[in-house]
Amino acid sequence: MKVYNSLTRGVETLAPIADNTIRLYTCGPTVYNFAHIGNFRAYTFEDILRRVVQFNGMKIKQVMNLTDVDDKTIRGANAAAVPLTTYTKTYKDAFFADLKMLNIQPAEIYPAATDHIPEMIALVQSLVDKGIAYQSDDKSVYFNVRKFPGYGKLAHIDFDHQQTGARCAADEYDKENVGDFALWKAWEESDGPVGWDSPWGRGRPGWHIECSAMSMKYLGETFDLHTGGIDNLFPHHENEIAQAEASTGKEFVKTWMHCAHLKVNGEKMSKSLGNFFTLRDLLEKGWTGREIRYVLINAHYRSGLNFAFTALEDARKSLARIDACVEKATEGAVPEWAQRHLDDFTAAVNDDLNIPKAFAALFELVRDANGKGAEGTLGVFRRMDEVLGVIFFGKAEKAAVPAEIQAMLDERAAARAAKNWAESDRLRDAIAAAGWLVKDSREGQSVTKK
Ligand code: AMP
Ligand code: ZN
Repeated sequence: MKVYNSLTRGVETLAPIADNTIRLYTCGPTVYNFAHIGNFRAYTFEDILRRVVQFNGMKIKQVMNLTDVDDKTIRGANAAAVPLTTYTKTYKDAFFADLKMLNIQPAEIYPAATDHIPEMIALVQSLVDKGIAYQSDDKSVYFNVRKFPGYGKLAHIDFDHQQTGARCAADEYDKENVGDFALWKAWEESDGPVGWDSPWGRGRPGWHIECSAMSMKYLGETFDLHTGGIDNLFPHHENEIAQAEASTGKEFVKTWMHCAHLKVNGEKMSKSLGNFFTLRDLLEKGWTGREIRYVLINAHYRSGLNFAFTALEDARKSLARIDACVEKATEGAVPEWAQRHLDDFTAAVNDDLNIPKAFAALFELVRDANGKGAEGTLGVFRRMDEVLGVIFFGKAEKAAVPAEIQAMLDERAAARAAKNWAESDRLRDAIAAAGWLVKDSREGQSVTKK
């Protein structure tokens, strides 16, 4: 599996540092509002990434933070006159519901910033102890970028030649260098009840320190992979590297990956421009999570993607075409031509997550299965869907039940109708022994392959 590393600007093999496990940190949402589908372009990209890691037989440990304290969350909570945690809970819950709707696999850990203030204070303290951070006249604590020689290595900017070191703009008066950034922000009137005590007085953590502290807590001081949207690259990720490496003296992250923006009429989809759709907006218009996911993943993650309703219409048609074919697909020996399409698919996803090319292989499979017969192709569709997560197997599952299992199911239905529970249980066990799981619901029984 090869991916493009923003740090080295090259395509490299992604190999785990330890335990056959890729340790991945992804910058998560600021929970002050509903996420828009631009945000979900980043989260679906990260979902594809973790699925391809697993597709290749590696394990994944993903941490996604929830930024539940910053200017925007504080402003929202204070305007609504509710505690910060009450205000952010609505949007945390909505976020998890949206992830499900888009069939995004859950991360292993979702740490919230407000639960990790002591870890952040400890990290700031270590930087102060090393003389890399300083408390300024405004009581805030800043990172001195001149004390970290590697500053700019991710963004590929040579700061030594860029910075004057002079105190420039009025709003940066308290900093020693223009590029210095806040690690700890001193309490201000507008923060209202939000604040934590620290060695530097009451205040709150800066956004960047949050990610350095929580990623290292759960993934170690050096880990495999860190991702986000391209807007996170500078200054956020640059600052994360500076904080972590200046504190530990070790390399922070091996590979950095960034997805391009989702755009609307050529401009970044964003809250501030007002040109956004939330997932809810699109669901209300009658689009499904599966169709929206299809549109978000069906462009290379490093290419711009322009949002248009015509793309959703195309997604609907393409998915219907896949569904109709999968309905005919059966288990069994995989035909040689189907294996070839799977090999093409595998090569595409392993080539820096080339999902458009992977979809092309899927459609070749559909075309050939329609022409040559879909016997033996179900496993190939399933394998491809481990990465794509858009195929509907419900009908194929029903159709794929072997005759002897169906016979036992019919007997069991009759036993249940006669309230013969012992016989019903015996048949359930017999069906289980044959490799199928029976589920009872109001609609009757259904089976899935174990
Ligand atoms: P935020 O909540 O603004 O911190 O953003 C959360 C994630 O969404 C970050 O990884 C951003 O880089 C990403 N993001 C924000 N807007 C877009 C967009 N229009 N397209 C793709 N990713 C985005
Ligand atoms: Zn982050």
